[in-house]
Amino acid sequence: MIEMKNVSKWYGNFQVLTDCTTDIKKGEVVVVCGPSGSGKSTLIKTINALEPFQKGEITVDGIAVHDPKTNLPKLRSRVGMVFQHFELFPHLSVTENLTLAQIKVLGRSPSDALAHGLKYLDRVGLSAQKDKFPGQLSGGQQQRVAIARALSMDPIVMLFDEPTSALDPEMVGEVLDVMVQLAHEGMTMMCVTHEMGFARKVSNRVIFMDQGKIVEDCPKDDFFNKPEERSPRAKDFLSKIL
Ligand code: ATP
Ligand code: MG
Repeated sequence: MIEMKNVSKWYGNFQVLTDCTTDIKKGEVVVVCGPSGSGKSTLIKTINALEPFQKGEITVDGIAVHDPKTNLPKLRSRVGMVFQHFELFPHLSVTENLTLAQIKVLGRSPSDALAHGLKYLDRVGLSAQKDKFPGQLSGGQQQRVAIARALSMDPIVMLFDEPTSALDPEMVGEVLDVMVQLAHEGMTMMCVTHEMGFARKVSNRVIFMDQGKIVEDCPKDDFFNKPEERSPRAKDFLSKIL
């Protein structure tokens, strides 16, 4: 589903990604972790072309992200992304947030878009909030709306960049529950997160990054249960967060 081959990226002279290679199959849930500044956000954003890269190749369901001829809006419409800071439009109601891109990007009729959006709003347990504005919702609720909005586009892959790290602790669980449910439904997911409970429970694989490199890319059981096989950097990281 996502094939990444030798992706490298520089900001000026600073190399932020070095030869990143991985392959994410349909239905796989892959957790990306690593120290701050190791390139996790940059890596995940290369997949939907939010971050350009100078070397290497990425294909998403056969769409070549590295090919300048690729229609980027079409690619982005198929790759859902949820960030740390819920990027809802503050001046639009929940319903309008859910339907805008469906109408503008996918060309759905307002009534189709509404039906679709409300279905996913129900899935994240927020039907009753449909007429509110983002500022009237809690952080956890806003993040669930952001997930519903991404799902309304019928993505083939969902990318998450620390979706719970800006939330008050009591709201982390409600967002993780939605992500766990998505994983169980077979969604292909790549999640930057330090929620190791989530990683242990639902991920198939863990990617560990350090200084722009993918240092570990292994089944989650190996990552957590075979510390003797891990790199010193990963061991050090695990000792701090577990
Ligand atoms: P965090 O855990 O703090 O979110 P991260 O692993 O997601 O970190 P990135 O945000 O991908 O790390 O950043 C990787 C490196 O690239 C960092 O050293 C950062 O300072 C640098 N960087 C990010 N954006 C830019 C930019 N626009 N220009 C120059 N350097 C940048
Ligand atoms: Mg980041």
